[in-house]
Amino acid sequence: MDCSDFISEFIKDDLASGRFSCVHTRFPPEPNGWLHIGHCKAMTVDFMAAERFGGKCNLRFDDTNPEKEDLSYVKAIKRDIKWLGFDWEDREYYASDYYEYLYGLAVKIIKKGRAYVDDLSEEEISEYRGTAVPDRNYITLTPPGRNSPWRDRSVEENLELFAAMRAGKYADGEKTLRAKIDMTDPNLVMRDPVMYRIRRAVHYRTGNSWCIYPMYDFQHPLSDAKEGITHSLCSLEYEIHRPLYEWFIREAEVFPSRQIEFARLNLTRTVLSKRYLLRLVEEKHVSGWDDPRMPTLAGLRRRGYTPAALRNFVAQIGIAKTDSTVEFAFLEYCLREDLNKTSRRVMAVLRPLKLIVENWPSEKIEDLEAVNNPEDENAGTRIIRFGKELWIERDDFEENPPPKYFRLFPGNAVRLRYGYIVTCTGCDKDAGGNIIAVRCNYDPETKGGNALDNRKVKGTIHWLNAADAIPLEARIYDYLFTAEKPLNTPEKPDGTNSSFLDNLNLASLEVISGAMGEPCLAEAKPGERFQFERLGYFVRDCPAISDCNGDGVDSAHPPASSHLVFNKTVGLRDTWAKIVKKE
Ligand code: ATP
Ligand code: MG
Repeated sequence: MDCSDFISEFIKDDLASGRFSCVHTRFPPEPNGWLHIGHCKAMTVDFMAAERFGGKCNLRFDDTNPEKEDLSYVKAIKRDIKWLGFDWEDREYYASDYYEYLYGLAVKIIKKGRAYVDDLSEEEISEYRGTAVPDRNYITLTPPGRNSPWRDRSVEENLELFAAMRAGKYADGEKTLRAKIDMTDPNLVMRDPVMYRIRRAVHYRTGNSWCIYPMYDFQHPLSDAKEGITHSLCSLEYEIHRPLYEWFIREAEVFPSRQIEFARLNLTRTVLSKRYLLRLVEEKHVSGWDDPRMPTLAGLRRRGYTPAALRNFVAQIGIAKTDSTVEFAFLEYCLREDLNKTSRRVMAVLRPLKLIVENWPSEKIEDLEAVNNPEDENAGTRIIRFGKELWIERDDFEENPPPKYFRLFPGNAVRLRYGYIVTCTGCDKDAGGNIIAVRCNYDPETKGGNALDNRKVKGTIHWLNAADAIPLEARIYDYLFTAEKPLNTPEKPDGTNSSFLDNLNLASLEVISGAMGEPCLAEAKPGERFQFERLGYFVRDCPAISDCNGDGVDSAHPPASSHLVFNKTVGLRDTWAKIVKKE
């Protein structure tokens, strides 16, 4: 990440003024879902800010919502952070470990007369608080809220009631602990926010030990302070919470962590919020959190994305203070940049059509040399075999070609990649008139690469030797949503609001089961990436991604079945360049 970003400027000032003597950040995921690419941005900001100033970054699970959190999410989050290449070393913390500490600070605030136990219900609290539509400056357009009738309880009574809340004397929702701030504050967040609520829910770490749970706004700043976090970097929606963050730090008299907000990452054609991603999973619109169409790190990884491409993407978009939406095509551009350099080239045919080389002797097999990666000399070459019967792509033959069609049609010549130039002599059809084979003659003088002979042809096509090609399944993906911004859900004609699910792309997955590939693909490891020449980048599927080790290639668990599935990662054509050109 560029050091000239605004966060680095704040940090530099803080170091120069002596406000802080070191830099300590944290990445605070809530274990209520799997990480998505937005978290990749947050992580990059948190870890890189620390790294740039020789500081540290903690991993802290922000786990104070027992109903939604789970150990399986903790494991998935740790796995995905490691896969991206960030390292929290031994600094793994849990807000749920701070319950006793937080309780103590709540008592301290009560003793200062700055918090009270309220008997109003949650509905009454929000009614008393008032509803407001904040304008751009967070000035509310509603009248001030009303004080709760329980606001002026004595410190002694509050201490006693709060202890009774903890001891389980009251039912869920019967009482809350609230900060005593100002019910007329224009910022609604400051109108006596709730600090603790009663919830008899089993927490995945603390079990039944607690029946009161701290609210985010109270817990987060004080957890930061407990860890000595100097810069608490978070997304823009927390900006209006900053005065409250500072209020709790001040009233609890703890380490003065500083909150700084940055714009969240939004991407076209997808949703970046665990709430919505959870719905996609629960309602089975996708196969799971790691479905290759999901913007989760596990989904992107299974799709064939590399950590380098994701980190480079985040570095390129930079960090800003205003929200914006990045084109998905730009993410794909960053991915292609990386895959082009690193992926081995092989040939595969998605929809095979037989090509018979009529003037090739029946039994003859010839070895040809193919380059594994023209971008990487060290990748070497491999032998591919050429025989009388080949597979070509069904699309690469047209009996009656449209204008500018440079592939095979009767009378036309093309080069078979790494092989010979062949001239089409016709095709065979079945009784129904379907084309079942194409016929051609080869020119023995044209063996090898494109430069070895003087004959020029306009088209080069890929092919496989029919005798040793292996069957495979190819899964071709499209964007999960048809709308650029799936969460923009306009009103329907009947006056009801549409749902983001109305924008789902119902054709986002195409399974091609009869594809074929070079024999070397039989050895492909789950998670291994290739370029299928002329078709795009593909990755061998890794279904149980939790079994894979950090590099995405599962060497310890070879797949039980020999069924070869390849996910299409991205096509070869750069749609981003087109967008830039248009603009
Ligand atoms: P979601 O909206 O997906 O549920 P969240 O903010 O509730 O996200 P957390 O697990 O609480 O998820 O987030 C951990 C950190 O990641 C927070 O600091 C949050 O600000 C940041 N974050 C979440 N989504 C994005 C995003 N789209 N872009 C940048 N940062 C994000
Ligand atoms: Mg959150």
